[in-house]
Amino acid sequence: MAAEGYNPANFIQDIINEDKQTGRHDGRVHTRFPPEPNGYLHIGHAKSICLNFGSAAFNGGLCNLRFDDTNPTKEEDEYVEAIKADVRWLGFDWDDRLFHASDYFDQLYEWAIKLIDKGKAYVDDLSPDEIREQRGTLTEPGKESPYRNRSVEENLDLFRRMKAGEFPDGARVLRAKIDMASGNINLRDPVLYRILHAEHHRAGSKWCIYPMYDYAHPLSDAIEGITHSICTLEFEDHRPLYNWLTEQVEVPDRPQQIEFARLNLTNTLTSKRGLRRLVQEGYVGGWDDPRMPTLSGVRRRGYPPEAIRSFCGEVGVAKTNSLVSFAQLEHSVREFLNRTAPRMMAVLRPLKVTLTNYPEGQTEEFEVENNPEDPAAGTRPVPFSRTLYIEQEDFMEEPPPKYFRLAPGREVRLKGTYFIKCQEVVKDPATGQVVELRCTYDPETRGGEAPDGRKVKATIHWVSAAHAGDATVRLYDNLFLTENPAEGGDFIANLNPKSLETLTGCKVEPGVAGAAPGSRYQFLRHGYFCIDPDSTPETLVFNRTATLRDTWAKVSGK
Ligand code: ATP
Ligand code: MG
Repeated sequence: MAAEGYNPANFIQDIINEDKQTGRHDGRVHTRFPPEPNGYLHIGHAKSICLNFGSAAFNGGLCNLRFDDTNPTKEEDEYVEAIKADVRWLGFDWDDRLFHASDYFDQLYEWAIKLIDKGKAYVDDLSPDEIREQRGTLTEPGKESPYRNRSVEENLDLFRRMKAGEFPDGARVLRAKIDMASGNINLRDPVLYRILHAEHHRAGSKWCIYPMYDYAHPLSDAIEGITHSICTLEFEDHRPLYNWLTEQVEVPDRPQQIEFARLNLTNTLTSKRGLRRLVQEGYVGGWDDPRMPTLSGVRRRGYPPEAIRSFCGEVGVAKTNSLVSFAQLEHSVREFLNRTAPRMMAVLRPLKVTLTNYPEGQTEEFEVENNPEDPAAGTRPVPFSRTLYIEQEDFMEEPPPKYFRLAPGREVRLKGTYFIKCQEVVKDPATGQVVELRCTYDPETRGGEAPDGRKVKATIHWVSAAHAGDATVRLYDNLFLTENPAEGGDFIANLNPKSLETLTGCKVEPGVAGAAPGSRYQFLRHGYFCIDPDSTPETLVFNRTATLRDTWAKVSGK
């Protein structure tokens, strides 16, 4: 699978290189992407996906997709399917290596028995609250449970009865027997199993004890033969437990956990829990609302997977957390779309223009370049006629000094065609609003230059009224007003009330007619747009992917 966009200049690649040299893991590279199916993937996950799948591909290794479905009360099949679709869309493939932590429940149980046998785990009757209270603090050691020194036989009996369903939720837990005085709280006899009489989305009602994440994760890695278990920094303190567990179960080639900094983006929430709240409380239209930083959201908005991969490569992999500007992600999107998106003319707020000296019923076709950045993109015919639409903002009745576009008596160029001159302004008598411009065109300026050498100071875009398609255009802005959405407490208070503006009655070049949802364009002077699945045969719906203004290129000097 493609390593395209993977940037090998990172410290994890350095570790892999060294492992290859020393022969650790027999030179194998086997990674995994382990989402918990409790929500849709977001842009932060993209970094982890690109790193896991990308480093495996780059090193001739393999990457598994594993659903971390140890928590029976939360997972849903909808999320599983969405996650698979998103990983594929990003350009990665797990081939036949789709796994679930729940597939390993039997093996995990066997290993728990093994730990008990070795005197390395015990059943504790303390309540969850008591266990928490006795765990100690960063400065004080924890207290040993009175049940800590039960015999192996008693522990085996109680653990089997826990599995058999003899005890209610919370009555007992299985704990690792490590060190209650450890400076690392994660090693103070962490809970490995809890009782939970709950159905599991895959395992059904087979189990009423469920492994904790900290137990299931390293051992799932061990079962799959993972070599480099890449995770985010908050698990750094869990690494000693990870190592302890993989050592105790005595697998031949122990996986190593490597932590990297999670991706945080300005004005963006990257927490599935937070995003779920936005969906469930109706602040957005769904997980795939184009304002959402979910992969399904940015896909619908028009972000190309290639751009996300190159963004992930550019932000790199670090060991300290930082905040990346959303503008940098947009920069990657613009850079890709500038090279690949066909140009089109679209008028978002139309103003009618009649060319009074252009013959009624006549149509001309102009061949227009599809993409000046890509000579192979060719040209397309664009029809021109007597009645056109231009942008309302391209005309001012009383223009200020630096306004060079259309005004009464003034001449401008219509992109790729002729010079036109505004002769008369027609207003709605009731409202006084300008509803039409009556202009003349100069046939001598065909192609956009005047033979007598006279110049115009502006070129504006247009569409032919009789040929244009109808469109609805959705303009998006940041979902949050603050760089850190959680600033001041609740992120709901920082939602941008103007994150969506819907324009109806827009007019687009006939060339886009019949295009499929997901098609992306650059509308001249407006930005990048993508056709939304809400489109109908009569009216196309466009999402604005990004404006043309690249604020990141400016600050970064790119
Ligand atoms: P969330 O808080 O959004 O639920 P999570 O870490 O609980 O995130 P998981 O489904 O457990 O979500 O994540 C799957 C993988 O993606 C993990 O390895 C996790 O470390 C990684 N990941 C999650 N968020 C980010 C992020 N912002 N940047 C990089 N990697 C991330
Ligand atoms: Mg998680």
